[in-house]
Amino acid sequence: MLDQEIKTIGSGFSERTGAVFEGKLTAVDRVREAVTKIRAIDPAYHSFVTVCEERALTMAEKLDRETQGLSQEEVRRRFPLAGLVFAVKDNICVEGVRTTAASHILENYISPYSATAVVRLEEAGAICVGKTNMDEFAMGQTTTTGAFGATKNPRYPDLSAGGSSGGSAAAVALGLVDFALGSDTGGSIRQPAALCGVVGLKPAYGAVSRYGLISYASAFDGIGPITRTVHEARQICFVIEGSDAQDASMRESEYFQPPTKENDGRLRVGVLGGEDSEAATVLRKNPTFCENYEIRYIELPMLEYAVATYYILACAQAASNLARYDGVRYGFRAKGYETLDQMYEMTRTEGFSPEVQRRILMGRFVLGQESYRDWYEQAARVRRRIYDQVQEAFAEVDVIVSETLKRPYPRADFAGDSEAFLAGYEQDKLTVLANLCGLPAISVPVPAEGDDAPHSIMVTANAGREAAMFEAADRLAAPFTPCVKGGPADE
Ligand code: GLN
Repeated sequence: MLDQEIKTIGSGFSERTGAVFEGKLTAVDRVREAVTKIRAIDPAYHSFVTVCEERALTMAEKLDRETQGLSQEEVRRRFPLAGLVFAVKDNICVEGVRTTAASHILENYISPYSATAVVRLEEAGAICVGKTNMDEFAMGQTTTTGAFGATKNPRYPDLSAGGSSGGSAAAVALGLVDFALGSDTGGSIRQPAALCGVVGLKPAYGAVSRYGLISYASAFDGIGPITRTVHEARQICFVIEGSDAQDASMRESEYFQPPTKENDGRLRVGVLGGEDSEAATVLRKNPTFCENYEIRYIELPMLEYAVATYYILACAQAASNLARYDGVRYGFRAKGYETLDQMYEMTRTEGFSPEVQRRILMGRFVLGQESYRDWYEQAARVRRRIYDQVQEAFAEVDVIVSETLKRPYPRADFAGDSEAFLAGYEQDKLTVLANLCGLPAISVPVPAEGDDAPHSIMVTANAGREAAMFEAADRLAAPFTPCVKGGPADE
């Protein structure tokens, strides 16, 4: 990191870390405060599945020892995130902590190592206080379907918390942690962020190491932050991104490139879906935004095929990634089997939920000898066409703005049966675009205007044009408001 960048990195969190830098508050104090809040507030919401208090205190004590006697300036330089507490989605490994992906099949799995993203945050002085709830193996959009129960939406109680990183989004919305990590394969960071009224960033594919992320669909999976503000999302991204020998699919990052403003210095904003779209409505209510940027209306006809393409390709990858849960190597093994085949069959039948089984079967089908060409290969070709069309759009505009997710928004009483899941797939139409094309995208809450108004908006950029994305998103985002009024989270 460059010295200049290190200096500014803690500033967005300064209200919360300032006291730590000044030595008025220790990291141990901050961990204790967070754990007390989680114990008091979270039982009503269930955003956490595991609180790792002991490990967090040990890390905090170590940090306090290492910062003792250092000047404020030195602490900031060596530990730019000193004293920040964060939560990690339960499909991202944290050394010595149970990591379940919200599945019975990994119920008792203790990870022997930490994900690269977690290691980098801890090296920067942030402390992980627990693991958050999700849909099993990150398959879903409600955080109601995991093996350990549902997370409640703290901001809009009739809606689900969104998913699959619903626990991470709820924990941030409740003010239980300073930020959280989620994973996004088809929208799982951005959708829960949108539904809980916080910021969710899906970095470009290959910007953040996937090492330590339990694979769902490896060509689309990515780790990213859920935060209160755009500025904080950018700061966390800056710490966790960058090449890693453990992940062969990394790209060289260009996060801190200035936006190229070819058009008289004005960013060109492409509004997806025309003048009647929700995104257009949101922009009209923000006259400063419209004055500062050039607004164009764009269409992406290939988007019609995005959901089908995504689910074919994602399920194919899931079927091969989830083959490793066989009762031999990890976690759960069924009892009462007689033969080896029976052991595999019973373990996978009892260990995976019906939706995960459905996706494995769908994946096996599209990869089958008879169907491979008609389904898998065809989907791969359509993905390419979608990508080409998006690239054509980026010749005309710097960023694409749209709603984050389609209506109807997923409800708190999501049934979890096959029909409910199938209907839910359609909600992913707008978010899967970034995953199919490897693009960075961020969802930000917009000023609230009653229950029917859109909650959020999404800004997508071309890979390498993150600066333009952050700039536009920052100008659209409503300031963070905590969900629990008058409670300890209401700072
Ligand atoms: N809702 C999508 C799915 O179920 C995306 C999930 C995700 O991004 N992990 O596959």
